[in-house]
Amino acid sequence: FSQRDAKFLFTATKPEQYKRLSNPEFTFAGRSNVGKSSLISAVLRSQSLVKTSKKPGHTSTLNFFGLTSSTYPESAITVVDMPGYGFRSRDDWGQFIMEYLSTRKELKRVFLLVEAKVGELKTTDLSFLELVEHHNVPTQLLLTKTDKLKRTDLNIVSGKVLRAAMDVAPTAVVPEVICCSYKTKVGVDAIQEAILRASGV
Ligand code: GDP
Repeated sequence: FSQRDAKFLFTATKPEQYKRLSNPEFTFAGRSNVGKSSLISAVLRSQSLVKTSKKPGHTSTLNFFGLTSSTYPESAITVVDMPGYGFRSRDDWGQFIMEYLSTRKELKRVFLLVEAKVGELKTTDLSFLELVEHHNVPTQLLLTKTDKLKRTDLNIVSGKVLRAAMDVAPTAVVPEVICCSYKTKVGVDAIQEAILRASGV
């Protein structure tokens, strides 16, 4: 990603607002406070993007970021920050997300963030996994803030969380968890590689 330039594109809640983007797309989802904006900024190598997605008016919309490269101007990638669930009621939160997940052909993979210390999938995570399974969206679990856990506990948690996710979404879930930390930058390279591999760039 070092040669790529990340920029904030726009916020959206309706397909008309994003349908003109046709690049391979990758979306980050998870509960509020899971560490999503920190991790996205590390993956995109841009600190200022954290601020963008935390701005008023940007926290309950889909936030679109573009990655372009001078070497591959034609093969740009789109990264989407999905609103964190937890603040709003599920029905309220779900409607435009449902529309997005069911219609977005460009979507190559969803990264579902789970906080390592929480150590389990919550009801909202399970509902989300039911959605991606239903719409056949490949989904990879990212365990966040892993600097807070010992390695042995981390192995136990990642195995447990993966099994629980695969019970709900056996087809959608990618059978590999990436352990990440914004603090230590562990996992950032692995996410970038996963994006490049799945985008075919
Ligand atoms: P979001 O609400 O999911 O976008 O979460 P943020 O990225 O804003 O992070 C929420 C809180 O967790 C903030 O106080 C961050 O400083 C903290 N945080 C984020 N990532 C990490 C991490 O990798 N390690 C630790 N220890 N704290 C983190």
